Amino acid sequence: MTPDLLEQGHARLAQHQAQAAQSQTVSGGRSAGYGRLHTPGELDLTHGRILYLDDVSVSFDGFKAINGLSLDIAPGELRCIIGPNGAGKTTMMDIITGKTRPDSGQVFFGSTIDLLRHNEPEIAQLGIGRKFQKPTVFEHLSVFENLELALKTHKGVAASMFFRLDSAQSDRLAAILHTIHLADAVRRQSGLLSHGQKQWLEIGMLLMQDPKLLLLDEPVAGMTDFETERTAELFLSLKGQHSLMVVEHDMHFIERISDIVTVLCDGAVLAQGTLAQVQADERVIEVYLGR
Ligand code: ADP
Ligand code: MG
Repeated sequence: MTPDLLEQGHARLAQHQAQAAQSQTVSGGRSAGYGRLHTPGELDLTHGRILYLDDVSVSFDGFKAINGLSLDIAPGELRCIIGPNGAGKTTMMDIITGKTRPDSGQVFFGSTIDLLRHNEPEIAQLGIGRKFQKPTVFEHLSVFENLELALKTHKGVAASMFFRLDSAQSDRLAAILHTIHLADAVRRQSGLLSHGQKQWLEIGMLLMQDPKLLLLDEPVAGMTDFETERTAELFLSLKGQHSLMVVEHDMHFIERISDIVTVLCDGAVLAQGTLAQVQADERVIEVYLGR
């Protein structure tokens, strides 16, 4: 190769690199595909979303419970999901957590973790915590023991035999007790807590596992107004440190906590925006009132 050609090649390379740096594709530019350091097991948030569902569908006996659902959530976001009964809200959470496998579509945690390649326990280990509708605390154990157990079970059975809280974990447990308003009830038997307190304890058990994303299905159902308000404060305090997806029917609660509200209907997104925006949407009004 002559020095001339070498020089031209060098100039072409420089030109390509300059173009790549400028190209503003949604994937972050061509440069994003090369040489980007990514630590295995660490969540890749470079594309600004922690959860990404694309064109997801699932049928049960020919009935499409989820039908072309696409949705994404930003890191630290508190997203509210509303929608009539049977809209597919719980099924969506089943898909994200690996309980139900979709027939088609993509589900990603960060940019690189394909959740459809993982089973339920693996997805929990990856940092997605789920709170079901009914509280499932161990009633015969104390508040403290329930929180401690949450950490043990997350670490796996073998580790749990020799498990002791280290000082960082003890500190976290104490901080979480405050967050969930149960610092005064730490030795109380969980079966003696009110319904709302049991729900908070279960959220505390999830927090012990330090999830990056929390999925909460109708968390304030059955709570008193006072408990509902304290739960709103709790969720607002979690926002930013964790990403949250909250399914709820209680519109006062939604109004209190929401930034963006997604309306699900017939297994897909019907509308999205602020609560005021979606409530003013004719299609949303129709599905809530017109059926
Ligand atoms: P939502 O939580 O929004 O009320 P679901 O996700 O529970 O709605 O249910 C959506 C639809 O899918 C409903 O019609 C429900 O009956 C149906 N469905 C959910 N899970 C199953 C299942 N495992 N088998 C059959 N049908 C199901
Ligand atoms: Mg449901």
